[in-house]
Amino acid sequence: MTKEVDPVSEFGKHDRDAVPERPPGSLRGFADTVGLASARVWRLRGRAWNTLRHPAGWELWRLPPAAVLWMLGTEIAVAVWALYSGFKATVTTTDLVRFGVITACAIWYLVQTQHPEEQRRADDRRGEHIDQTAVWLGGAAVLLPPALSLTLLLMVRVQRYSIAHKAMTTFLFTTAAHAASILGVHAITELTSLHTWLESGTLPQRAGEIAVAAVALVGAALWYFASQTLLISIARGLAWGGWRRQKLIGSWADNADFVYALQLAACTTILGAVNIALVPLVMIGVALRSTRLSQALADTIARSQRDRKTGLLTEDSFHAPAALRLLEDQTDRRPTAFLMLDLDHFKQWNDKYGHSGGDIVLGCVSAVLRQNTRATDVVGRWGGEEFSVLLPDTTREEAMRIAERIREAVAKTAITGLTELASGHATNEPRAVGPIHGCTVSIGVGLSPEHSTDYGELFRAADTAMYQAKRTGRNRVVVATSAVPPSPRAPMSPLSRAGDSRRD
Ligand code: GH3
Ligand code: MG
Ligand code: MG
Repeated sequence: MTKEVDPVSEFGKHDRDAVPERPPGSLRGFADTVGLASARVWRLRGRAWNTLRHPAGWELWRLPPAAVLWMLGTEIAVAVWALYSGFKATVTTTDLVRFGVITACAIWYLVQTQHPEEQRRADDRRGEHIDQTAVWLGGAAVLLPPALSLTLLLMVRVQRYSIAHKAMTTFLFTTAAHAASILGVHAITELTSLHTWLESGTLPQRAGEIAVAAVALVGAALWYFASQTLLISIARGLAWGGWRRQKLIGSWADNADFVYALQLAACTTILGAVNIALVPLVMIGVALRSTRLSQALADTIARSQRDRKTGLLTEDSFHAPAALRLLEDQTDRRPTAFLMLDLDHFKQWNDKYGHSGGDIVLGCVSAVLRQNTRATDVVGRWGGEEFSVLLPDTTREEAMRIAERIREAVAKTAITGLTELASGHATNEPRAVGPIHGCTVSIGVGLSPEHSTDYGELFRAADTAMYQAKRTGRNRVVVATSAVPPSPRAPMSPLSRAGDSRRD
């Protein structure tokens, strides 16, 4: 697993290359993937050159000055450290052989995991990264002198950058954070008995030696994890102006994946020290299998929680994350906003363009919602033509601005791909119609703590305000009044009481 600082997802999106179809698992497929990977890396020259020639356009400058200082300072410090360690250490023939074998394993692994990794990176609503390149980089950090382990890091990062869809400057900072992990691990091997053990190529025999080597190995893994996590979290905190744990270091599950990759890195190290030929024999299979299992699990979870038509959260999967974000805001005394949206006269779209035409409209509206919300917002479709958005850490003014922006964007959306029905029935040759405007939405806004800090009541406030928007002419945003009347539609908070929170 690698950690990334990703200010881009907070500030806007990059153009993306299309993600290619999964190649078949044959030798031909593997050759195709190698070709694709090489072509991607080759194409980087243009992208990199273009970025270097236009420093004024670097994403870096869009970050707050403190984040810029932190990132540049880290990069310079790591570069100096790398030069110092690189020149100090000598490279032996054993080192070169180990480097060759670990690099071959890493390349095999990168090529095999390129496609799912690229798809995952293209979906910017997913959390931390779950590729396990640390299996090779962690092993290399202990087994190789810095000049070689950093060369491997550069190769891995260049390949991952070719599919990363990220700003070069932030990717460079993340690479510096990984280099700090590697250099620190190398320093630990130099200072402890790990060095002697690796030099001699035999495992320690006496109990005392085994204990020291084990402690050194655990210390190296801890450094690898902590230095990278800390450097990147501080950059994220400074860039995003918030210090919540989940946002800075990801979920516990993400970090458990990272720890597992480091356990595998320890296996790579021990096997490599005994006999480097054991590394490809054992570790390639283990690393690929564990990465594929994590990827399959993440995909299944992501798919099962999404509404098939729009890709947004379903009503059931919306409640838990929304209530959790509300609780986090309450704990930190921050405001929260809840938007309830209902498309106006949606039935008419179905009547005119058929049910599939109505579905196209739903797809367009969900795209508008995605484009106008942050990755930390919770966006769901409640079946039918109703949507809801929970906006964490959002004041009344910001909520009004966001709701108004969404309302305007929906009204301006040109719906394409519709075909007209004749006399209520599909003609044999449905007549394609040009881009159609005129879809509008009524939005109700509920605010915490102004209206209530209770999840169910907040929903009720937004829902009542949405009906008020309908009654007063539709295509408008209405903020709830202070008094929240009872409503049978209100869900219970999934956090305050277990049980069915579905709306009837
Ligand atoms: P209002 O402005 O009062 O909200 O009017 P409306 O027509 O939007 O509301 P109404 O509740 O009368 O109609 C909603 C329609 O949404 C009725 C239903 O057939 C349609 N609908 C529900 N789910 C889907 C769906 O998944 N796809 C499509 N195409 N239509 C759906
Ligand atoms: Mg409705
Ligand atoms: Mg409606």
